[in-house]
Amino acid sequence: MSGDRETITLAEARELALAALTRHGCDKANAEAVASVMLAAEADRAESHGLFRLPGYVASLKSGKVDGRAKPAVSRPAPGIVRVDGKLGFAPLAIEMGRAPLVEAARSQGVAALALVRIHHFAALWPEVEALAAHGLAALACTCATPMVAPAGGTKPFFGTNPLAFAFPRHDAPPVVFDQASAAMARGDVTIHAREGKPVPPGTGVGPDGQPTTDPAEVLKGAQLPFGGYKGSNIALMIELLAGALIGEVFSPESGRSGPADGGPPVGGELIIALDPERFGAGTWGERVESFLAEMLEQPGVRLPGARRHLNRAETGETGVYVPRALLAEIRDLAGV
Ligand code: NDP
Repeated sequence: MSGDRETITLAEARELALAALTRHGCDKANAEAVASVMLAAEADRAESHGLFRLPGYVASLKSGKVDGRAKPAVSRPAPGIVRVDGKLGFAPLAIEMGRAPLVEAARSQGVAALALVRIHHFAALWPEVEALAAHGLAALACTCATPMVAPAGGTKPFFGTNPLAFAFPRHDAPPVVFDQASAAMARGDVTIHAREGKPVPPGTGVGPDGQPTTDPAEVLKGAQLPFGGYKGSNIALMIELLAGALIGEVFSPESGRSGPADGGPPVGGELIIALDPERFGAGTWGERVESFLAEMLEQPGVRLPGARRHLNRAETGETGVYVPRALLAEIRDLAGV
């Protein structure tokens, strides 16, 4: 790859991530869990949650906000509920530790939930729901963030960009997976538009004066807007209640007031719900899903959410990943190589 990008293998990318994380205070278990999530994003060419995030993870270790040696604690407050206290570490290890008991609870109860608290979530959410689909479970996951999005009708940041991820298993194909922020545009995209001096679409946000604007720099100073007006706003609200109130964690406005603004993830919680299709009495669900999806895909131009990533994943093992040279230089520096 020429120009402003360099090709590296996924194995090289993983070694760099592990070296940078351990050099700045992660123990082996945390470094491996974080690197796995970052590398899964790189493998799917979901760059905004790949190596791009590494400097932010390191910044949070350097500032002392995140404990890179956190040892999450798993408890079982009810037969269908698993709770993991992340002990102020990064989310990936806590999620990994909660997964097996969540799968077991979903299989035995039909429905189960994983409440993750005192974690710093900086990643995409599809890895957690896709991992559950690999166990034959349908799953929903959501988390709050820092205040960036005005509630419908308002003009001041209040909600996070609050993503919701969903996965549904298929018998002989990758699962159906979507994972989307409840803001009209992801924060990273607004930042990239600002850096490149490109206007954002109307409806992305308002400036500090509360007036609609297509200037991304003004949106960053003002507030983002939810997607779909009040409908996205209501989804963001639901996520605050589920990943905040229900599990005893901070709301986005509160997480914005805690910890240094070091460019890394805020403290907060995540709720993951798992459902076992085998326990709902719908014996032929797998066949019905396939005929339903086939009919949907008959329409030209229609694709399944997740399909882009799954196609990329099939490629990158061979091709490696194309990392911006400036980012790679920064990461090599952080890794000390
Ligand atoms: P996108 O708008 O890029 O994509 C949203 C979803 O829509 C994806 O699942 C995507 O699938 C799917 N999709 C895209 N185009 C189509 C299409 N034509 N037909 C059907 N489905 C389609 O995501 P966002 O920008 O909203 O979010 C980006 C990421 O940011 C998410 O992974 C989210 O978890 C993460 N995030 C994390 C936060 C945190 O605090 N940890 C906060 C906010 C966001 P595909 O992947 O196949 O393109």
